[in-house]
Amino acid sequence: MQETPSREAQRLRETLRRHEHLYYVLDQPDVEDAEYDALMRRLAQIELEHPDLATPDSPTQRVGGAPREGFVKAAHSAPMLSLDNALNDGELREFDRRVRELLAGADCRYAAELKLDGLSMAVRFEHGVLVQAITRGDGLTGEDVTENARTIRSLPLRVRDGPGLFEARGEVIMDRQAFERLNAERERQELARYANPRNSAAGSLRVLEPRITASRQLDFYPYFLLIDGQPACESHWESLETLARMGFKVNPNRALCTGIEELLAFCKQCEAMRDELPYEIDGVVAKVDSLAQQRALGWTAKAPRWAIAFKFPPQQVETMTASIEVQVGRTGVLTPVAHLRPVVVGGVMVSRATLHNQDEIERLGVHIGDTVVIERSGDVIPKVVRVSAPGEGRRRFEMPGQCPVCGGDVAREEGEVATRCVNTNCPARLKESILHFAARGVMDIDGMGDALVDQLVDRGLVTNVADLYRLKAEDLIPLERMAEKSAKKVCDNIERSKAQPLARVLNGLGIPFVGERTARILADTFGSLDEIAGADAETLQQAEEVGPKVAGSIRHFFDEPRNRELVERLREAGLQFTGEKRRAEGGPLAGRTFVLTGTLPSLTREEAKARIEAAGGKVTGSVSKKTNWVVAGEEAGSKLDKARALGVEVIDETGLLELLSRE
Ligand code: NAD
Repeated sequence: MQETPSREAQRLRETLRRHEHLYYVLDQPDVEDAEYDALMRRLAQIELEHPDLATPDSPTQRVGGAPREGFVKAAHSAPMLSLDNALNDGELREFDRRVRELLAGADCRYAAELKLDGLSMAVRFEHGVLVQAITRGDGLTGEDVTENARTIRSLPLRVRDGPGLFEARGEVIMDRQAFERLNAERERQELARYANPRNSAAGSLRVLEPRITASRQLDFYPYFLLIDGQPACESHWESLETLARMGFKVNPNRALCTGIEELLAFCKQCEAMRDELPYEIDGVVAKVDSLAQQRALGWTAKAPRWAIAFKFPPQQVETMTASIEVQVGRTGVLTPVAHLRPVVVGGVMVSRATLHNQDEIERLGVHIGDTVVIERSGDVIPKVVRVSAPGEGRRRFEMPGQCPVCGGDVAREEGEVATRCVNTNCPARLKESILHFAARGVMDIDGMGDALVDQLVDRGLVTNVADLYRLKAEDLIPLERMAEKSAKKVCDNIERSKAQPLARVLNGLGIPFVGERTARILADTFGSLDEIAGADAETLQQAEEVGPKVAGSIRHFFDEPRNRELVERLREAGLQFTGEKRRAEGGPLAGRTFVLTGTLPSLTREEAKARIEAAGGKVTGSVSKKTNWVVAGEEAGSKLDKARALGVEVIDETGLLELLSRE
């Protein structure tokens, strides 16, 4: 049966949202950019053909992802949007045609810059001094990362004769060398490698510990100069020159192009030097140079009409498939992976590529021993594109009839592409579920990497995640690559994870469809694991964003006796099974907005924020007329001055506690 457009749109939205969460919030994408882009284009096409199916919250209308938990959120002075893409010369020419048509044939020049592959950040300066740095977030609100940004050496903390108040927006990147060094270090510590410099730049800027950011050697290249949310100069080129004069590190590879041919030539030139650059780029950004013309062209909901990102085609090279092995994931899915003769693609050494599933292998017609073309598109997870020469004595690959890890049965359900191991006790599934439980952003157990988990499972020391809490340093010391000190450290980290809040525990259980966001919503709505485990599907759906599929999956999980037993053991271990219910609306501080500044005598920022939110209030990063209270502690900065200037009530910690106790 063919899928209806409405169903397809809904399915695409769900899939895109999941990928966006992995990419923007967790910095851990699990598909290539090209695949994500293709899904996005398909959704846009459906919405164009069926305007009644377009919704304001569709991923085609929104930018980025929600700010991560733990950071103070901060509002942007003007939306920080994305860019439309041109994937080839034809699409770039089409952009130029549209621009000239909208400008009624007026001459226009393009300021062309490298498209640095990092994450964007806005930095605000007052009287020449850096006062705040905010990530893009969802475009309207980002994360206040000021303390982390201060550690970036190329970002001036003070500038030479700039305007009194201004904002620079630009890209935070990690160069290839720093990226390789970081991954080598992570491997030594048995932590997961970062997929690419973009993810590692994002992960490094968005840690709660500025010391870590400082060690990561990030760079900041600005490309917008704003005053009061508006461009500061009459042309983009002039903005760049002004930023450079102020002492910012403006990227020197840029050109002012007259006409599309000059622009295309610049794109080709950049593509040719791509591999020689010390950092990754994924294209060229062209902006209509004149501010007056930019204003005339305006914006769509998601991007300016006066700019375009010309994306380079994915980089392809030939190599040989030496073997095809099968990996088993947390949900039991068997994934064939091609082991390749190592080759450098776009400056990165590649030795493996996913083949997804049996259907994909058949579609490609790939055999072991074939010469294949592989592709890497802005991401390190490469894929096999086609067979370029069948190998002599090539061998056909067959999906195994048994799980390669536990030898148990595998099954492929009708209508599904995935083959799964049906044994819920399969060690491969167990290893993956432990890695997920211990991961960054989940229970945060540092040191619990692949090599340790392999040994723990293979030696029978851990048969489910609850067993982690029984481990003692003595159990770990005899393991490979473990010494007394490291064993003790891992045990301490396990112990410390007991304090992780309910939402993380829930996420850690690995219930299908319950990731970070859903777990947090469930925790906020029900306030206890027992409530969630005991709720019927209908009650579960009272939580925001929880539909029949998610509710069904949660029920299925808790109905399984093995899982109930696991939950009991985690309870005995002392994990957090309750949390505060947070009312989305209502609460004594509902509708009230707070700004925190300076150091409070007893509460940390996170605690103050959590308590305000639990009472229904909101915490934002900058003071405006709409702010109800500014909570000021020691060494309060410019926000305090601004509050006074705007006549916003300023209170101290005692004042805040009083407000909270009125509940
Ligand atoms: P984008 O990366 O396509 O372009 C916009 C961004 O370019 C800006 O926000 C800015 O950060 C950056 N940029 C770099 N140099 C610039 C310059 N000189 N001037 C202006 N901006 C510059 O758009 P996006 O909204 O950040 O993200 C979409 C991209 O992320 C797509 O390429 C998509 O494939 C990828 N993505 C991938 C996944 C996944 O699961 N793989 C998920 C979500 C998004």
